[in-house]
Amino acid sequence: MKAYVDLHIHSALSPCADEDMTPNSIVNMAILKGLQIIAITDHNAIGNVAACLEAARNTPLLVVPGIELTTQEEVHLLAYFDEYSSLVSFYEEVEKHLPLLQNRSHIFGHQWIYNAQDQIIDEDQRLLMNAIQLSFDELIYKIVGYGGVPVPAHVNRDSFSVLSSLGFIPPELPIHTIEIFKHNKGSLSTPLQKQLAHYQQIISSDAHSLGNLLEQVFFVDLNQLDAAHLLKRLSQSPEVEP
Ligand SMILES: [Zn+2]
Ligand SMILES: [Zn+2]
Repeated sequence: MKAYVDLHIHSALSPCADEDMTPNSIVNMAILKGLQIIAITDHNAIGNVAACLEAARNTPLLVVPGIELTTQEEVHLLAYFDEYSSLVSFYEEVEKHLPLLQNRSHIFGHQWIYNAQDQIIDEDQRLLMNAIQLSFDELIYKIVGYGGVPVPAHVNRDSFSVLSSLGFIPPELPIHTIEIFKHNKGSLSTPLQKQLAHYQQIISSDAHSLGNLLEQVFFVDLNQLDAAHLLKRLSQSPEVEP
C-alpha cells in the first residue's frame, strides 16, 4: 500500500515551533492533509510523543516515535523507533549529555508539554536547542543499539546538516536513508547527488506550524501500516549501479 508520510514535524515543545502545534491539532491536520504516517521529532526532547500517540489512537493515522537530535558537530539527526518504550530508553541515556543550561523562553520561545487533550501540563526548562555532547557517530550507533533507525535530517540545507558540517556522509556508518528538505529539492550538485544515490531518500516538511505539514507529496510502499514495517523500509539501502 501507498502510505503518505511526513516524518519530521515539531510540536510546541520545540521552542521555534508555533504554540498551536499541539498533539490533537497536529494529528487532525495530518489527517486533513491526507497523510497516513507522521513522526513528532522535537529538538533533543520527546515530551509530546506520548500525547501524540494517544491523540492518534482511535484515528487512521499512525504516529511513529521519533526525535531530532543535535549532535556535538551541530548536525541534525532524526531517529525513529517502532516502540515508544525504546525511544524512552534511548532518550534516558542521551539526555544525560544535554548541556546543563536553562532555556530563556523570552528569547528562544516556550517549550510546552501537553497531555492528549491539548492541555499544557509542563514546560521543559532545559535549553533544548543546544548540542548534545555526543558525536554524530556515537549517536548513530546508540540509535541502532536501541533498535532505532537514524536518518540525517535535511542534508541539502546549508546549516545543521551532515553535509554542511562534516562535508560528507561517513560511508562506514549504518545509515541507509537520508532526509531531503522539500523546499531545497534540486539544489544539490551532481557529485553530491551521486554520493547520495547510495541512500534511500525521504522528503519531509520539518514543519514548525500547522500549515506547513506535507500534503500527499511523498509516500512509501508498505505491506502493512505499522511502525515496524516503516522502520524496516528505512533500514534498507537502495540498489545502486556500481
Ligand atoms: Zn533540523
Ligand atoms: Zn526539524
